[in-house]
Amino acid sequence: VTRVAFFGGTFDPVHNGHLEPARRACAALRLDALYFVPAARPPHKLGETMTSYSHRFAMLALACQDDPHFLISDVEVERSGPSYTFDTLLTLRERAPATEHYFVMGSDSLVQIATWHRWQELVELVHLVVLHRRGAWGDELVSQIPTELRPRLTRVVASPSVSLTSSEGMRIYLLEHEPVPIAATDLRARCGRGVTIDGLVPEVVARYIAKHRLYHQEVTGADGP
Ligand code: ATP
Repeated sequence: VTRVAFFGGTFDPVHNGHLEPARRACAALRLDALYFVPAARPPHKLGETMTSYSHRFAMLALACQDDPHFLISDVEVERSGPSYTFDTLLTLRERAPATEHYFVMGSDSLVQIATWHRWQELVELVHLVVLHRRGAWGDELVSQIPTELRPRLTRVVASPSVSLTSSEGMRIYLLEHEPVPIAATDLRARCGRGVTIDGLVPEVVARYIAKHRLYHQEVTGADGP
């Protein structure tokens, strides 16, 4: 059995709140590979300014270099128009054949799922792996998701010995782990204020951000090119 997961996001920048739970997901669900899939034009962030795709991709590449399970897919950059996860997953399933495909998201994203393009079809394409993010979890989370999805929920403890349900149909795996309270919005704000982000992103990513001054506010009137 080969198990391949896809983890979509803006990753502006990728941080330990993505990486640590993703490592746990690999272990708990015995994943063979996990592809980070940076969004080219996320439909819910179309009006917002974002760091260029190439910088976001480069930071992911640095963050993934030492983990044998972690890969990156640039599938979204090839398409024009908004990058809908549904379309991305159709392409990815063909390009990365496996017996089981998974899509990883934070619990805050699961609560929003009914707003996603073709979400009812999306949940038939892949199993979902839900990471514990701040906010709703447990019964509260269950009460916030579409009723028809509730019977699919399966709690997974982050231990390699977990036995996966072999029942038919797509499941939604809730990964039990301590939340890692990090958000990219907060990291960008910290950089703008000159506050350290050490310990919140891999060191190589912190160095890349500093080198390219990605989130440092421009100083008006400063000399330079
Ligand atoms: P922003 O603050 O800019 O919205 P973000 O930190 O939420 O960014 P994204 O790239 O937008 O990061 O998130 C991609 C996916 O990762 C989403 O499904 C989100 O729920 C999940 N995620 C982000 N941060 C965490 C975290 N700390 N713990 C668990 N999941 C997370």
